Amino acid sequence: MGRVAYVNGRFAPHGEAAVSVEDRGYQFADGVYEVWAVLGGRLADADGHFQRLERSLRELKIVPPMTRAALEVVLRETVRRNRVREGLVYLQVTRGVAPRDHAFPSPAPRPSVVVTAHSVDRAAADARAEAGAAVITVPETRWARCDIKTVALLPNVLAKQQARAAGAVEAWFVDELGLVTEGASSNAWIVDKAGALRTRDTQANILRGITRGTLLRVMAREGLKVEERPFTPQEALEAREAFITGAGTLLLPIVRVDGHTVGNGKVGPVAKQLRRLYIEEARRTAV
Ligand code: PMP
Repeated sequence: MGRVAYVNGRFAPHGEAAVSVEDRGYQFADGVYEVWAVLGGRLADADGHFQRLERSLRELKIVPPMTRAALEVVLRETVRRNRVREGLVYLQVTRGVAPRDHAFPSPAPRPSVVVTAHSVDRAAADARAEAGAAVITVPETRWARCDIKTVALLPNVLAKQQARAAGAVEAWFVDELGLVTEGASSNAWIVDKAGALRTRDTQANILRGITRGTLLRVMAREGLKVEERPFTPQEALEAREAFITGAGTLLLPIVRVDGHTVGNGKVGPVAKQLRRLYIEEARRTAV
């Protein structure tokens, strides 16, 4: 059975699913998105992603297209129709369709809603996590509102491509102070020389990762020492361990930064344990 997408109230085969050429998502990247990990056929960190979606929409003054409950039904149905047990569900909401003009259309059009889902090979992902992965660093070139999860991802796309070309899985943005902000599609972490877990604080211009938030709660519960404090690429190289988090990778250990090894170049015990704990927590709380 082929994949199906939800588009504005109906399900259609991917090849036929489409939005208008005058959709403001297409014309101006005037829209937001969310991604939930699907674990055992259920939505991971569901509430956090819904809350962030509602905030992103509010920040862009896009009226929510439906209630959270209705949206949850659509997400679940998309997961079910695509037979996803382990994977991702993607939601995009744009300001809608209107003749091309930069300012908001008045009256406001109905927002466009697209939902897709696909399976991931969790065994292959586990194997990647066992081996550890590489990141590169790139200059921060994004706008000042990275806290809003908009579909305007061109700097992220270019950074990710640069990473891919260098044989790395992710690019870490480094701001004008020389501090890592986050990855192109993940949050960045280290276990520093002193053994403290460190990730950028949310006062900085980063996305407030939902995986990051849940992991912080897991760390607190486990009594681990955590500092929401920035680090430099050099500190990452001198760190004991590094890793990234996000709905896509869950938690992926990083063993190389810009071609240099982190710690002993092997996946460390903290990242390994945290990956297990996060996945346990996410599976337990999935809805
Ligand atoms: N930062 C950026 C720029 C991202 O695109 C993502 C992935 N959505 C993340 C961080 C991680 O966020 P989350 O844990 O909510 O998936």
